[in-house]
Amino acid sequence: MRDVSGTTQVTLKKGTSPPELFRLFEETPRESVVEVEGTVRRSERAHRGVELLPDRVSVISRAEVPLPLGVVDKVGAELPTRLDHRVLDLRKPGVRAIFELRARLLAGFRAAFVQRGFLEVETPKLLRQGAEGGATLFTIDYFGAPAYLAQSPQLYKQMLIGAGLERVFEIAPAFRAEPSDTVRHITEFTSLDAEVGYLDGAEELRGLLEDIVVDAVGSCRRALEEAKNPLAASVPEVKAPFPRIPFATCEEWLGRPGAESDFGTEEEKAIGDRIGKELGASFYFITDYPTVVKAQTFYAWRRDDDPTKTGYFDLGYKGLEIASGGPREHRPDRLQANLLSAGLDPSKFAGYLEAFRFGMPPHGGWGLGIDRLVQALAGLANIRESRLFPRDRYRLEP
Ligand code: ATP
Ligand code: MG
Repeated sequence: MRDVSGTTQVTLKKGTSPPELFRLFEETPRESVVEVEGTVRRSERAHRGVELLPDRVSVISRAEVPLPLGVVDKVGAELPTRLDHRVLDLRKPGVRAIFELRARLLAGFRAAFVQRGFLEVETPKLLRQGAEGGATLFTIDYFGAPAYLAQSPQLYKQMLIGAGLERVFEIAPAFRAEPSDTVRHITEFTSLDAEVGYLDGAEELRGLLEDIVVDAVGSCRRALEEAKNPLAASVPEVKAPFPRIPFATCEEWLGRPGAESDFGTEEEKAIGDRIGKELGASFYFITDYPTVVKAQTFYAWRRDDDPTKTGYFDLGYKGLEIASGGPREHRPDRLQANLLSAGLDPSKFAGYLEAFRFGMPPHGGWGLGIDRLVQALAGLANIRESRLFPRDRYRLEP
């Protein structure tokens, strides 16, 4: 018998147990919902140390036969089959464990942000204009006119810095029409976004981000250990500071110095492997992204002394990009120029730009993909396993 607390052995004994229960147990299909009343007894052999000797059993909800997906089978089903029958799949204690990890991690992040004076906010997901325009916007019909699903809360969290909220974070869905079918992209993911006002450069952001990650992952690990969650062992103990490797150094490592194009999946893996081997680190920053790589990221601050570089960085974990962020441009004239050079029409960003015209402090922030972090910490082969009901190009159900 299984419930949220685990599996309990129910034992029938010839001669002692009511005879009609033998028949009931035989004809009740696996996975049915039952209520059992009886006596709890110590037992060396039962894995919980106790067994239940039933007096009365009622079948509350009978499961149909056959099950589309085995819950206790040793042989695992393929991921698409599991996702097609996700409700049954989620009954597996090992699958449930992932969502306990996820919940503990989110709780850890919330606590770490609140402790540092961040205000939790919620920004609109229905937009007239996307953050960076481009191919990954989902268009929707909004009372007969086109609108978009938010790819990120980018513009709104910056506006909230203009509103004087100073330190904000948001944990919310982000939608991207990712046409590629990879193990680290889905079309609906949960973005953990933060924005900090009166920022004193990229290093302040990296310091905050690594401290928050160390706190959140640490409290997640401790909570899982306490709950005897089997995934506790796979969540690493992490310590700040994380290594900081300039983008240009990574390019040299890859034997493509000065190429100034973003890293592909295999290149990210090679960088993560090298940092793991040489520095023994799982988390790391890749810093000083060149402006050409961030050309579409019009809100990224470009260095005053060298406009070919931004203050942008990525946070990686063993070769997987987890977060991107950096200082933003807070001067309206430069922001307008960046919009134009990204091929965007500033008049379409009027509401956003207004926030910069009446006093805007220097600021910056990051976006972190919670699903990728869960994937990494739980050691999942596919990001889809990190969500209860994942969405991708081919999947809108269940
Ligand atoms: P990638 O290059 O891996 O496609 P990105 O650089 O386009 O990611 P950002 O715009 O930097 O993504 O978004 C911030 C974070 O959000 C990423 O570091 C990642 O963790 C997460 N993220 C972005 N797109 C997706 C997606 N399609 N599915 C899951 N997580 C995503
Ligand atoms: Mg990125």
